[in-house]
Amino acid sequence: MKRKYAGTVRVWLKRDSGQYWPSIYHVMPSPCSCMSFNPETRRLSIGLDNGTISEFILSEDYNKMTPVKNYQAHQSRVTMILFVLELEWVLSTGQDKQFAWHCSESGQRLGGYRTSAVASGLQFDVETRHVFIGDHSGQVTILKLEQENCTLVTTFRGHTGGVTALCWDPVQRVLFSGSSDHSVIMWDIGGRKGTAIELQGHNDKVQALSYAQHTRQLISCGGDGGIVVWNMDVERQETPEWLDSDSCQKCDQPFFWNFKQMWDSKKIGLRQHHCRKCGKAVCGKCSSKRSSIPLMGFEFEVRVCDSCHESITDEERAPTATFHDSKHNIVHVHFDATRGWLLTSGTDKVIKLWDMTPVVS
Ligand SMILES: [Zn+2]
Ligand SMILES: [Zn+2]
Repeated sequence: MKRKYAGTVRVWLKRDSGQYWPSIYHVMPSPCSCMSFNPETRRLSIGLDNGTISEFILSEDYNKMTPVKNYQAHQSRVTMILFVLELEWVLSTGQDKQFAWHCSESGQRLGGYRTSAVASGLQFDVETRHVFIGDHSGQVTILKLEQENCTLVTTFRGHTGGVTALCWDPVQRVLFSGSSDHSVIMWDIGGRKGTAIELQGHNDKVQALSYAQHTRQLISCGGDGGIVVWNMDVERQETPEWLDSDSCQKCDQPFFWNFKQMWDSKKIGLRQHHCRKCGKAVCGKCSSKRSSIPLMGFEFEVRVCDSCHESITDEERAPTATFHDSKHNIVHVHFDATRGWLLTSGTDKVIKLWDMTPVVS
C-alpha cells in the first residue's frame, strides 16, 4: 500500500505575549511546495506536490481559512505561484516544465507554455503583461501574455548555473536573477541597452531575492546563510568580456597551449588568467594582486592585473553592499517594506523575522 504524505498550512499570529502561535493548522492532501498570499483579498493560493493549486480565503481575524477552489494546474509538483489581482490571473510553474495561467474568477485554464527546464523563478509585469520565467538550465524566458495566448519575446542566458530566484522592479524596469552559480545578475530591461550587471557577494547558491523599491536596495539570500543588502542606487559597470590571447597581454610570455611560440622561444608556457577589471588575458606573475571592485559587483577580492590594481582607488573599493549572517540556509525570503521587516525561512525548518530598518533605509 502506498502511504500518502500530507502537508500542513499554518497561520502564525502574534499574541499579546509577543510570541507567534499558529491560529490555523490546516491539513492538505499532499505536501505543500509553494504559496502566494494577497493581503488585500486575504486570498491564499497553495501549490501542492500533486500538481494542484488550492485556493483559500482567510477570515478577517486570520482564525479560519475557507476553501474556494482547486486548479488542476500541473502534472506534478507546483514550483511557483503568482497571483495577479489586477487581472484576476493565477500564474504558476511546475515540475512538469509547464508554465500555466488560470483565471481566478472562472477557475479556467487560459494557456500554457513549455519551458526548457523546471522553473524556479517567476515574476510578472502587470503594466505590459510580460512574464519572466527562470529555470534550472540557467535561462530566463520572457513571454508576453494575452487573455488566451502567449508569445515568446526573448530569452536571456548569463548564468553558469540554474536560475533559483527572480525579482522584478517595475519602476526601474530591472530584472534580478539569482543562481546556483553564487551570483546575481541585474538585467536592465527598461534601459534597452541590454546591459547585464553581475553581483558577486555569496559563497554558495543564491536562493532568494527581494527588492526594497523605496530605497533601491536588493536583498539576496543564499545557502551560505548570508543576507546581502545591495545598494542599487549607484552607477554600476558591466564586467568586461574576457579576451583570448596566446600570450600574456602584459609581458608577452606565451601561455602553455601556444606550443609553437614556446618552442621558438624555449620558454615554459604559463597559465592564462583574466583580469576582472579590464578582461585582459594575463599570466599569474602580471596579476599577482587581488582587489574588490564593488561597482562591477565584486564585493569580494578577485584577480586583477597589476596595472588595474594600481588604478583602483580606495573610493572605488568602498563596499556597495552590507553583509549579514542569518545562521541558516535560506530558501525563501519576504520583505515587508512598510515595517522594514524581513522574513527568512530555511532548510532547518525555522522561520526568522529580521528588523532591517538599520540597513534598509
Ligand atoms: Zn605576464
Ligand atoms: Zn586589468
